[in-house]
Amino acid sequence: MTRFIFITGGVVSSLGKGLASAALGACLQARGFKVRLRKLDPYLNVDPGTMSPYQHGEVYVTDDGAETDLDLGHYERYTGVASRKSDNITTGRIYSDVIARERRGDYLGATVQVIPHVTNAIKDFVKSDVTDEDFILCEIGGTVGDIESLPFLEAIRQLGNELGRERTMFIHLTLLPYIPSAGELKTKPTQHSVKELLSVGIQPDLLMCRSERDIPDSERKKIALFCNVRYEAVIPALDVDTIYQVPISYHDQGLDAQVCRHFHIDSAAPNLDRWRTIVDRVRQPEGEVTIAVVGKYTSLLDSYKSLAEALTHGGIANNVKVRLNWIDSQIFEREDVVQHLEPCHGILVPGGFGERGASGKIEAVRFARERLVPYFGICFGMQMAVIESARNLAGLKGASSTEFGPCENPVVGLMTEWLKGNLLEKRVATGDLGGTLRLGAYDCALKRDSRAREIYGADMISERHRHRFEVNMDYRAQLEQVGLSFSGLSPDGVLPEIVERPDHPWFIGVQFHPELKSKPFDPHPLFTSFIAAALRQSRLV
Ligand code: GLN
Repeated sequence: MTRFIFITGGVVSSLGKGLASAALGACLQARGFKVRLRKLDPYLNVDPGTMSPYQHGEVYVTDDGAETDLDLGHYERYTGVASRKSDNITTGRIYSDVIARERRGDYLGATVQVIPHVTNAIKDFVKSDVTDEDFILCEIGGTVGDIESLPFLEAIRQLGNELGRERTMFIHLTLLPYIPSAGELKTKPTQHSVKELLSVGIQPDLLMCRSERDIPDSERKKIALFCNVRYEAVIPALDVDTIYQVPISYHDQGLDAQVCRHFHIDSAAPNLDRWRTIVDRVRQPEGEVTIAVVGKYTSLLDSYKSLAEALTHGGIANNVKVRLNWIDSQIFEREDVVQHLEPCHGILVPGGFGERGASGKIEAVRFARERLVPYFGICFGMQMAVIESARNLAGLKGASSTEFGPCENPVVGLMTEWLKGNLLEKRVATGDLGGTLRLGAYDCALKRDSRAREIYGADMISERHRHRFEVNMDYRAQLEQVGLSFSGLSPDGVLPEIVERPDHPWFIGVQFHPELKSKPFDPHPLFTSFIAAALRQSRLV
């Protein structure tokens, strides 16, 4: 029997609802249950694919090619369960489906309304693609009280009724702000937030109270009394020094035990050893390396969430702390790269879109190549590495990407056709922006004797993609002549997936996003190897 846990947030946004959901998933999994996590997003975009990274942070891509909310990255990193298209829905998607059905005449002349048509579509989504999971954890985006989230709250209220108390649970995450002048943690915003939930018919079964300080017992009792929740189900969720401590702390506060109690399930205490090992490593590293991340969206670090995580995982694998030096590449248009990059032990250019800041990224590649500093180019970062070699080594005048407009030597060009399984995907330059990139998992064949082959220890790999442009194979011979090896190709040999420089200590560019598949307990081999190279570099300087 699959049980559904709905997680809402109150008082303010950015309380770490995604992380809390992921941590609960990890705890239940550690008790031996099969879990799946989902996110219901109340915004009107069909998916976050066209949203600015400054607005929404990273777009997390699934194997099956969905562009989803970054919280799905937390879910996957904490549980190891690969997210699917069916794990993220938005108001935009729900409405476009409902309207498409209305146009087809599926509603047989009915007046189409939020209740029941939109709420039914939400409920269908929540229950869809469920097989033998013990728990489906559904996080509702936004904060209770937002206009946009009302249909979602109504839908989960109805589900609570339909499936019954024994199959559903409502968890509400709130904040207890500390008021320094009073020297007190305040419970009133939590009381108001629960009132707001009650006004739409939802009585939370458990409260997770985020707080920067210990919550006195008296306040915990007060919350229980005023919010009509058992005392043990008021879970203190205190700030911790590392996010990997979250499953351990929430477990210590009784979170998963209370969930089991709610559902009347007897289960042995979870084994959280793998999280303890990770926390120990994070707290007691044996060294430190500094990585320069030369990007564009450095003012909102959520834009690079999975990347920062994957670099940390590479550190965990090597037992070192990874210090990240976020550099806005535009600075290199005004200032010399040397002063910024010289103190770093590795340079990474992440994924990106558009011409702004591209020349600074190319300068960073040049520095890494010439000074033999480990270089890792991801997606856009691979394309910039190719342009750098084309311009500075192969003498290809005006070498550039057609993403920036027409150019003399398009070493990176628009992808107009590629194979997805047996299907031919086609694109035109004037097509829609949303959902039209090359998305999701594709295989890549690795060249024998290449560094990529050695790092992966496999001939064939599968990685996730999200790009519209590709390195132009017409220039392959010229680029190989100047030392750039094409060490990974699509199985049909048509699309370049990995380039590397055999004459350099560590210089790899990948067209895919390896950061999306890295996990703290299973660091991605490319990140492990890159950090190891940075560690060697740190011993040289
Ligand atoms: N803008 C580039 C493209 O569309 C790179 C995309 C990315 O880095 N994710 O191909």
